[in-house]
Amino acid sequence: MVCFWRISNQVSFLGWSVSITNGTLYVVATPIGNREDFPPRAVETLKQVQLIAAEDTRHSQPLLRHFGIQTHLMALHEHNERQVLGGIVERLQEGDSVALISDAGTPLVSDPGFPLVRECHREGIPVVPVPGPSALVTALSASGLPTDRFIFEGFPPRTQKARQEQFEALRREPRTLVFYESSHRVKECVRDMAEVFGPDRPAVLARELTKLHETILSDTLGGLCDAMESDPNQSRGEFVLLVAGEEQTTEETVDPNAERVLRILLEELPVKQASGLAAKISGEKKNRLYQLALELRGEE
Ligand code: SAM
Repeated sequence: MVCFWRISNQVSFLGWSVSITNGTLYVVATPIGNREDFPPRAVETLKQVQLIAAEDTRHSQPLLRHFGIQTHLMALHEHNERQVLGGIVERLQEGDSVALISDAGTPLVSDPGFPLVRECHREGIPVVPVPGPSALVTALSASGLPTDRFIFEGFPPRTQKARQEQFEALRREPRTLVFYESSHRVKECVRDMAEVFGPDRPAVLARELTKLHETILSDTLGGLCDAMESDPNQSRGEFVLLVAGEEQTTEETVDPNAERVLRILLEELPVKQASGLAAKISGEKKNRLYQLALELRGEE
């Protein structure tokens, strides 16, 4: 039988207090470049917990040292996560408080930690988020693309074929698309995007956010390809790529080219066949063309 007890450590900090509860996993965000973006509550939490599980302890040490955080560190990364998970859960069940951090930004967002957080939920261990930066939201907030609805796709596949297939599946997506990409593939990735989504689709390349060489290029996909071709610096660093969703035509309006194709086909074919073929040829929605075909037939 496992015994749970909760002891709250209240630490007064700059006029407000940080409360650490024993037996709790804290998911703590860290800066994505600029150290000044480390939230005070995150720093204080990392000072107070008994253990920090970090993606790469050597990577995190300079940042933690800079903020006077001396808490014991252990490694939790994609290669050892399943092996060390049991030990961390045991410590939490014995009453220790543990913080999870990644190399940068919010853990679990294209970073390790999901199996640990899921296991804590299964075991009834409280999981407390300590929010802060994430490249995804940082890029989106300054992109000038619609933010009311978006989808995050993480890193696109590494091979061109798989990448193009993924983009093809997203071609008609109306929400803003957000991707992470590394400097090794960013040029090829934007080129594939231009090929699949079309060179005129609006897009944003957010590079080195919060860092010295931060650049936010807002253009079309074709324009971004040209910018990266003419300035090699635009392919250096870390990137978030954002692509505008496909512009939606209103229910009433049908693309004029699609209507022209439909009218020709209707001269020879029944409504269903003509609208199906016209949809295939033009890329216009089949339903919309079917409705229009019925109206056109009615006019005859
Ligand atoms: N967990 C992190 C977060 O919340 O943003 C992301 C970790 S993921 C392994 C790293 C990727 O995030 C980078 O390859 C890049 O695509 C993006 N990224 C992280 N920091 C960035 C920055 N300062 N500027 C632009 N992109 C960044």
